[in-house]
Amino acid sequence: MPNVIQQIVEGQDAAARLGTLADAHVYPRSIHPLEESALFLVQRNGRRLLALLSGQPDSRGLALEMRELEHDGQTLWLGLGKLSHDNAARVRALLPTTAPTRVGLRTAAGLGDRLGLATPGHIRAMRHTTEVVPVLAQQSIREMERTGRSPQEVLDDATWGVLQEGWRQPWGADADHLMTAHDIDACLAAGFVMYTLDPRAHVDNAAETDDIATLRAKYEALPWERLDSTAEATYAAYVGQTWYLDVSHRLAMSDTGLLRAACKYGTALAHIRELYEHLRDAAGDRPWELEISVDETDTPTRPEEHLYIALELRRLGVEWVSLAPRYIGRFEKGVDYIGDLQTFEEDWRWHVAIARALGPYKLSLHSGSDKFSIYPIAARHAGDLVHLKTAGTSYLEALRAVARIDPPLFREILTFAATHYETERRSYHVSGELAHLPDPDTLPDAQLEQQLDHFDTRQVLHVTFGVVLNATDSDGRPLFRERLYDLLSGHEETHYAMLEKHLARHVTPFEA
Ligand SMILES: [Zn+2]
Repeated sequence: MPNVIQQIVEGQDAAARLGTLADAHVYPRSIHPLEESALFLVQRNGRRLLALLSGQPDSRGLALEMRELEHDGQTLWLGLGKLSHDNAARVRALLPTTAPTRVGLRTAAGLGDRLGLATPGHIRAMRHTTEVVPVLAQQSIREMERTGRSPQEVLDDATWGVLQEGWRQPWGADADHLMTAHDIDACLAAGFVMYTLDPRAHVDNAAETDDIATLRAKYEALPWERLDSTAEATYAAYVGQTWYLDVSHRLAMSDTGLLRAACKYGTALAHIRELYEHLRDAAGDRPWELEISVDETDTPTRPEEHLYIALELRRLGVEWVSLAPRYIGRFEKGVDYIGDLQTFEEDWRWHVAIARALGPYKLSLHSGSDKFSIYPIAARHAGDLVHLKTAGTSYLEALRAVARIDPPLFREILTFAATHYETERRSYHVSGELAHLPDPDTLPDAQLEQQLDHFDTRQVLHVTFGVVLNATDSDGRPLFRERLYDLLSGHEETHYAMLEKHLARHVTPFEA
């Protein structure tokens, strides 16, 4: 690095010095020395821009407008450019820490960012722990459809947040709840690294309550060819067998146990295997890793069903780093665990025993936000083998910032959300009731922020993010989207501070 650039970008006042040169606010942690130059992010007129200060006119392959400037009698070049996809891709190539990597078996926390503005706050939360790897890009196809964002935008927004906050540790990117080969291709093209396969459309929930004759008939009719097995061979491999998982967990498979497991999940496993092979072939030599999730099914995954899933997937050649069974109790959106903690603990210990004996692989906790009462239990028994997933809770923190900064806008959003709750709740696990909501119009400003600590209000706001973001007025103009983005961009520090505080509470229980 030429001496003059070094003098500018090193030391405490670097952001101020660069800010004067660039005539913009410089994010202090975003300054990354890059050979003969420095790369950083600025904000000007409410917009973030990518900036490069260099002793050369060369923009390093970035789309930047370069202009010459004099500093202490020397000629320097300052480039400014948009946070475009091309620039994000080039930044990832220039600064490898801004690209996602595999997380493997390390404890992970998925920090879904529906608005694309939360990553800096998430990173600040992650600085409260040294042992949890953040998954900073994490979005399901359903969430992307509802927020109107593409896999590429989700990944690029995470990269900009990483650059802005100067995060130099590994981070992951999870293409969540993928159901088709088409979903996989879209996320591969965007550069995701972790793939969460969700075969829920092929899970037979009725098997939970089917009588034995129905189970036998369904069992015979399973797609045995796609499972590389026969009804007889699978039966013989399981029924009457006992697995000694650890000193306190011994699992014996009964006739009904196998029939129910196979009927419930057999077709889903054939589907997973096909998606897995598609991913493996399509990914080529790009890095990737896999999670299997059956969490969004109607009934809990029994221990013998988890065992069946893991053994069968292994037999079919599928490799994964984490698995999300459907645990006992209720994992509702945006609120704490609902259920008996001792029952959860017993159930969790079974799943841990299986994941250790047959992997090891991590247990994934979906709808994992705000489940404060179970984090210590999960950490105590699973140790490092946990992948926690959160998403909507960060959107709620954005709304907490709105409640503090712009009370009338918050009232409007809450009123709108309430009118759409009954429709939107259908695709989510929530039990919040509109009748328990206060009237937004009579709530004093000082009490609005507390609404974000209220069970029913949280769920009403949580499940309506899509309709809120996509709402338009009678002329087709966005009702809330722009105001929300403008407000959060104009009050970044408030937004980040709320995210930091709330998400730090999620990750610190998993410190060893
Ligand atoms: Zn999930």
